[in-house]
Amino acid sequence: LSPNLRRHVPPSSQQRRLLNHFISRPEHPIEPPPPPPLPDSQAPQRFTLAVKDNIATTSPLPTTCASSILAGYTSPLEATIVTQLRTRGALLSGKTNLDEFGMGSHSTHSAYGPVSQDLDPKTSAGGSSGGSAVAVASGQVDLALGTDTGGSVRLPAAYTGVVGYKPSYGMISRYGVVPYANSLDTVGFLSKSISPISNLVIGSEGRGLWAEHDPHDPTSLSPSARKRCAAQREGYRQPWHGSRNKIKFGIPLEYNMAELDPRIRTAWAETAALLQDTFSARIVPVSLPSTKHALAAYYVIAPAEASSNLAKYDGVRYGQRDENAATDAAAGGVLYAATRGKGFGEEVKRRILLGSYTLSSEAMDNYFIKAQKVRRLVRKDFNRVFALENPLHAPETFELSELPETVEMEDKWGPEEVDFLLCPTAPTLAPRLKDLENKSPVDAYVNDVFTVPASLAGLPAISVPMPVAEADGQGQAGLQLIGQYWDDARLLAVADVVA
Ligand code: GLN
Repeated sequence: LSPNLRRHVPPSSQQRRLLNHFISRPEHPIEPPPPPPLPDSQAPQRFTLAVKDNIATTSPLPTTCASSILAGYTSPLEATIVTQLRTRGALLSGKTNLDEFGMGSHSTHSAYGPVSQDLDPKTSAGGSSGGSAVAVASGQVDLALGTDTGGSVRLPAAYTGVVGYKPSYGMISRYGVVPYANSLDTVGFLSKSISPISNLVIGSEGRGLWAEHDPHDPTSLSPSARKRCAAQREGYRQPWHGSRNKIKFGIPLEYNMAELDPRIRTAWAETAALLQDTFSARIVPVSLPSTKHALAAYYVIAPAEASSNLAKYDGVRYGQRDENAATDAAAGGVLYAATRGKGFGEEVKRRILLGSYTLSSEAMDNYFIKAQKVRRLVRKDFNRVFALENPLHAPETFELSELPETVEMEDKWGPEEVDFLLCPTAPTLAPRLKDLENKSPVDAYVNDVFTVPASLAGLPAISVPMPVAEADGQGQAGLQLIGQYWDDARLLAVADVVA
């Protein structure tokens, strides 16, 4: 429905260098390990892969998280997902630029300088996986890996006009991915179309990545839980659930907010109408009342986890030590302070301060605990509107004084149960980097308002290109589809039709 129209002519190879999206590139793409002996017909097809620089690769490629504190660091191990893709034919083509440690929405908070998706005007590539998105959008690689904690794959995809997919939490191994906020972090995929992603993730005959548990990653769903989830999704593998007539998309009313760019609102409505007319899809309004608190909850939880994760970069355990700092114990903490003061950028320091505060004894109840409660409400909102059950959540038990016994109630309330939610990925089109200079950090946080709810609930979500009408022609935005937990196969298949 929405052809992948590009707003700009693809950049020349000289221009591409200036977009600043690669942190390091090997002279020749790194070959996959020798394939196991397979008949030719089954040999994996080769494809070029860019990897966000917070995902570990081994020498000669560094792993820096775009932070000075990890300048020159090379990892002794390769992330499981990189190994998995290499054995499936990936040629490693480079490490991509990002917001330091994944913290940001425009790929501007990087020790390597900002990423842009074009040169004049310099337009935001989105963040934090902006480098990966530009590597795909400019045609340099077939597929790129990003990480999505609160929207970092979906937002850059929307801004650059490519597909960005965040899987269900716990599906894809995070071993070797530098943690930002563990309870939210996922590995995500960017590509120009959906089929390369679904071939790898879903695959056929259980050979997709979604079936692979990683014992090295404690958040990787166990084999038995995977079996249970897959069993619950059996019969739902077909994109239109057997018949196209039955598919039901929910339009979350709370997403139609005042800050939404009217051009995006129009394109969103038109896509919904097209789905209705062309595919006889049913479009129903739904309410996710906790949406308005989700952003605030995210910006309490993510920095809290980040402040704990980043404590290890002190120049002793990890990180570039500031050799000039006094190291004698009497100077108490000078080494740490100097190392961290120099090594971290402004945004990362802001998050550390924010997180340390909300976890402090005086603020904990008011911020961190409240945010966890909001997170539960956000999950409940989603479970209530989806027709499918969430295989990880048992129905809650309520003690109702007016009833004689304890009754088991599910999260469902009304009749408006849907298969997928259909909403914009971001409230605005990609801003110009110049216009971001005078904005406050909170302005950047607002960009994540439509992406963080699915992250808080651990649900699969995908952004597909959605062209919007602009005065000077065609602009691009992202249309987001959100599915129930572990409904990834159907989500990808439906998104393929919608794209
Ligand atoms: N923009 C969000 C943040 O800064 C999301 C980042 C991400 O998903 N890695 O936290």
